[in-house]
Amino acid sequence: MIYFDNASTTPLLPEVISEMVEGLTHQYGNSSSLHQKGRAAKAEIENTRKQIASFLKVDPMDLVFTSGASESNNLILTSVVKAKKIKKVFSSPLEHKSVLDPLLDLEKNNKDLELVWLKANKDGSLDLAPLSDHEPNSEVLVSLMHGNNEIGNFLDLEKVSEICQQKGFFFHSDLTQSLGHSPLDLSQTPLDFFSFSAHKLHGPKAVGVAYLKNAFQYPPQILGGSQESGLRAGTPSGVNIRAMGKALALSFENSQENSQKRSKLKNYAIEKLQENFEDIEFNGLSQNREKSLDTILNVSLKGEFPMLAFQLDLEGICVSQGSACSSGSVKRSKVIEILDDLHGRTEQTHTPLRISFSHLNTLEEIDRFIDSLLKIVKS
Ligand code: PMP
Repeated sequence: MIYFDNASTTPLLPEVISEMVEGLTHQYGNSSSLHQKGRAAKAEIENTRKQIASFLKVDPMDLVFTSGASESNNLILTSVVKAKKIKKVFSSPLEHKSVLDPLLDLEKNNKDLELVWLKANKDGSLDLAPLSDHEPNSEVLVSLMHGNNEIGNFLDLEKVSEICQQKGFFFHSDLTQSLGHSPLDLSQTPLDFFSFSAHKLHGPKAVGVAYLKNAFQYPPQILGGSQESGLRAGTPSGVNIRAMGKALALSFENSQENSQKRSKLKNYAIEKLQENFEDIEFNGLSQNREKSLDTILNVSLKGEFPMLAFQLDLEGICVSQGSACSSGSVKRSKVIEILDDLHGRTEQTHTPLRISFSHLNTLEEIDRFIDSLLKIVKS
């Protein structure tokens, strides 16, 4: 089996599994309990919080452990709009649904809130002029992801962070696809809020982080307990949190080496695809080494192959033909639909495919993938 769907989720690393087994065996205390098992669980969680904060160069008090990036995005957007009396939000139609849907819901229920969608260019980059042209205002929130989960495009985070600082806007960035995969120094590029999930970094599912600068200022979204300094009710999963700490530590320690491996894989895949499919197109900036994640390559094959991902699956190859969040259906992703409109393409003229790598993949796997693709498309 060849797994090229790492943007959907990644396999657990053996070191992370060991951490989880250790945690599952010994760390069963409820971190709110006052006895020794509870105190041990609490200490473990707080140590992990400090460890993660030191990697990210932020205050540990501002990190909230959640069930993943979807919850983190919901918590941040809802709480910030409420607490800071936000009147305008700038975002983009290329965001993940866990940003789009809460924003649409907030707009529906708040007549004073205006949503402004930044326009996408043909290459999936965003027109930032409405942001830079806007006058300073402390009731404005900007929510833009760092690395796009479909096409891999990087946002110029430094530039947007600088604009937001100059104008007094709040800035939230969904870092789910980029954290641990691309160099990011949050002490140099300050963000007010960010979110990520452990499972994109070879950690467990259903655990992630919401970072809120000065977190104590914000209301919780899940009510019913004082966990996470009152920002999120519910008994935290010490095991998942501990394993997330391990996964993050490994990705930071090995970041250069892993990134070199992924870049090599991505470059080789680009080369082989171009060699074998002369009319192949690369969606967004995914072919651009500097301007896109080294984890994601999004291509379009000429012609209509609605069952392509299923056919590849039969060949033992896992890729995505739509967003993983709607996998199971062959409906193409919203991001590709937007690019299709901009390029005047239809479902009949091209078939998009997202191939996403991790450092665990090999060049031989790419060769096998190309052979299978040739067999399906050219038969
Ligand atoms: N944001 C982005 C950019 C993502 O890729 C994902 C996962 N598809 C999420 C948010 C949601 O993550 P989770 O499913 O772990 O909540």
